Amino acid sequence: MKSLYGKIIVITAAIMVISGLVAFLTVNTYYHQQLKGQNDEKNMTIARSVASFIESNEGFDLIAYLQTQSAVGYKLYVVNEQGEEAFYGEPFREKNLSWKVVEQVLNGEVYHGMRDLPSETFVTGFFSNESANTVGVPFTYEGETYALFLRPDIKMLFTEVHYILGGMVLVMAVISLLSMLMVAKKLIDPITKLTLATQKVGEEQFSGTLDINSKDEIGQLANSFQRMTEKLGENDRIRKEFISDVSHDFQSPLLNIKGYAELLLDEELSEETRKGYANVIQSETERLSSLTKQLLLLTSLDQLSSPLVKKTFNLGEQLKETIRKYRWLLEEKEMSLSMDLDEVHFVGDPAFLEKVWENLVLNALKYTEAGGSIDIELTEQAHQVTVRVGDSGIGMDEIALGRIFDRFYRADDSRTQETGGTGLGLSIVQQVVKLHGGTIDVASQKGEGTTFTVALPKL
Ligand code: ADP
Repeated sequence: MKSLYGKIIVITAAIMVISGLVAFLTVNTYYHQQLKGQNDEKNMTIARSVASFIESNEGFDLIAYLQTQSAVGYKLYVVNEQGEEAFYGEPFREKNLSWKVVEQVLNGEVYHGMRDLPSETFVTGFFSNESANTVGVPFTYEGETYALFLRPDIKMLFTEVHYILGGMVLVMAVISLLSMLMVAKKLIDPITKLTLATQKVGEEQFSGTLDINSKDEIGQLANSFQRMTEKLGENDRIRKEFISDVSHDFQSPLLNIKGYAELLLDEELSEETRKGYANVIQSETERLSSLTKQLLLLTSLDQLSSPLVKKTFNLGEQLKETIRKYRWLLEEKEMSLSMDLDEVHFVGDPAFLEKVWENLVLNALKYTEAGGSIDIELTEQAHQVTVRVGDSGIGMDEIALGRIFDRFYRADDSRTQETGGTGLGLSIVQQVVKLHGGTIDVASQKGEGTTFTVALPKL
């Protein structure tokens, strides 16, 4: 049985059959322990009253009387000492009463056949239509001794009430089975839908919506599945975009290198033009190299669950060192620099944090006109340290501000494009800050300048 639907139906039917059997066995035990004796006693009382009625009313029509008894629901078997026998009422299925028993009753004993009938396992013994399944008493009529054996007539036992009860049980069983069929179908329908949806996800189709609105556990599962599918779809979109961005960003420098390398083959070229072409090839190679390094860095940040190697270090000193590295650019662009650095010992990953400051400072330098200013600030608060890198540069509009942390994003601005950036720097910055449990904010005005604020919690 493979389908859940089939299993539920089979299990329901099995439960019904098993519970029926258990109920039957329980009732059966009760019959053998209690009812059998009581029933025998009841019939013995009736047999005795029949016998005493016969004995106390001499000279009446015995046969007519016994026929009346059979008409009200009893089977009777009467034998005299000569072995002459007579039956009244519906015939016995089996006449298995031994002559020995008959003799005992004729000798004045009573016979408890209903109580002592060899215990049949089932309660059906109660209905067993045998002459041995009777009670027997002796009586005398007109000076002659008789043995009277009696039991109730089964047909009479089955009254309307029994038929009504039997019908009720049957209707209940049919209705339960049919309702179970419907309930099972209703329960299984959403599971079937979910299975189809998982197959679709397996085929990388993340678009469909699940039409399951129940609030129960299956509804919750469907909800989580829907959210998971949306997230997978989003990730899939990002992954495809990322691959296309990477290929595009590798493609253009490679094309440039190829083009200029071909031009260099021309022997007629002047020394100056040749140098110019070689410079382009060199800068495009550097761009490819930094793109590769940044991609590797981002991948390592993405993949490791905890890539940070933390230790205590002098954060102010690290910032000063970063600025020292780019002092040549500051001087080349004749930019002014103001620094206000607290003496801060911070616990973090110095190698990754160095990348953060390098990116922010280099961006401030790249996106600020010659003669502009940069100001860097490091302050320590009770639970965090704050690094602020501000510039009086080209700034950004709202649209750019919302996207600068996206991978490969570069504002569509001629100045930005000229710098030959990769659009990966701020993604790395954001990722490192996030891994340190910190936040990064940016405030910018187009044409006025930009300030990045990094807040890192202290351990
Ligand atoms: P890139 O390599 O292009 O600098 P980033 O991820 O570091 O890549 O920056 C993404 C974009 O954000 C840049 O292309 C630029 O448009 C904008 N940007 C970053 N820093 C500044 C800044 N200080 N002033 C103006 N624009 C900035």
